[in-house]
Amino acid sequence: MSEVAGDQDFETRQIHAGAVIDAQTKARVTPIYQTAGYVFSDFDDGEDRFAGRSGFRAYSRNENPTNAVAGQRLANLEGGVDGIVVSSGQAAIAAALFTLAQAGDHILATRSLYEGTREMFRGALRRQGLQVEYVPDDADESEWASRVTERTRAIYTETIPNPLNQVVDLERLAGIAHAAGVPLVVDSTVATPYLCRPIEWGADIVIHSTSKWLAGHGSVIGGAIIDGGGFDWAANGDRFPHLVESPRPGVPSFVDRFGVSAYLGYLRTVTVLEYGPTVPPTSTFLLLHGIETLSLRMDKHVANALEVAEWLAEQPEVTAVSYPGLPSDPFHTRAQRYLPRGAGAVVTIDLAGGRAAARRFIDALELISPMTHIGDVRTLAIHLGSTIHAKLSEEERLEAGITPGLIRLSIGLESARDIVVDLARGLRAAAG
Ligand SMILES: *Cc1c(COP(=O)(O)O)cnc(C)c1O
Repeated sequence: MSEVAGDQDFETRQIHAGAVIDAQTKARVTPIYQTAGYVFSDFDDGEDRFAGRSGFRAYSRNENPTNAVAGQRLANLEGGVDGIVVSSGQAAIAAALFTLAQAGDHILATRSLYEGTREMFRGALRRQGLQVEYVPDDADESEWASRVTERTRAIYTETIPNPLNQVVDLERLAGIAHAAGVPLVVDSTVATPYLCRPIEWGADIVIHSTSKWLAGHGSVIGGAIIDGGGFDWAANGDRFPHLVESPRPGVPSFVDRFGVSAYLGYLRTVTVLEYGPTVPPTSTFLLLHGIETLSLRMDKHVANALEVAEWLAEQPEVTAVSYPGLPSDPFHTRAQRYLPRGAGAVVTIDLAGGRAAARRFIDALELISPMTHIGDVRTLAIHLGSTIHAKLSEEERLEAGITPGLIRLSIGLESARDIVVDLARGLRAAAG
């Protein structure tokens, strides 16, 4: 089906993987298949499509040709066996976990995570009866093991946690997860498959907010889930009976039907079908355009981020710079191992003058956009304590490492010199 096999270089696959030339028009660019459904050729064809026995689709809620190309392309770039795109990063996280766990189940997670995820864990997921327990990611194996119960269904982490860049030890976490009989689920939004491919380090399921660097231009919201295909569901069937057991006599189990991509098969044909977190193919069209230039953009994003971080580290108004590309950063050694092409493009700084300095800094910026989002071609800045982390108490913020002067920068593709000029303007204002 796909025009490109898996043995080509990343730069080639980001352009070609998963693309299917439309048989009738031979359109070179993947078209926007703006349709709700697909005509059955006859009665039996309708039955076959509903049973999943046909190569053709039934309905765009979970199967659309434009979206399918993006799912296949991301699976290819991550080194997975199957992938799907959904309506947002948040939807991807919810769908990924709803495919593993049900009311009464338990998930272990590293502490440093995107605040939207933490909010979902303590809000919607808890109300659905899912319990998430945090473990410091440097806790030793025996501590992790002691937290695993018979209801544990996953270990959840982020490659480069947003916003503090505390790069995780993926290989160690994968070992801990597999010893416990559960998959390692990794939100790899900030790394992108160009900088790190968690599946190569043992991760089982990779999640993206495609709204960030994958789409890359700040124009769309989307998410993706990729199945690594390596987790042995059958060997852990007591935890995942919905994947391993036949739903009814004579009906194959998901493992029998989908083999190594049983997880994604369930996610596509049950979770996404039932909950309906569908991304419009118009958004996916823009996502595909973004992915085509991912490597070029990421090289420039990380070069700019490093140059800006080095400059920020020298400024007296800045008391701390979190950027693992800096040799002085506590996560530098880990970044060298997992992120040899660069440590992403989020640079988080703490201002000496706290919240008052942060207000003056944000209000003085002219080039840099004060807004929430990351992974845009434009450089963006946000004061965390008054926005993303504002729902937390002062105490909870400090526990999460969100100090009053903390500003997250998403370094864009403008010239590093012009970014620094604007930051210098902000820091002069911050100094008062
Ligand atoms: C932005 C973000 C999300 C949520 O993605 P949306 O597309 O905004 O729903 C999830 N994880 C991480 C790490 C993010 O940065």
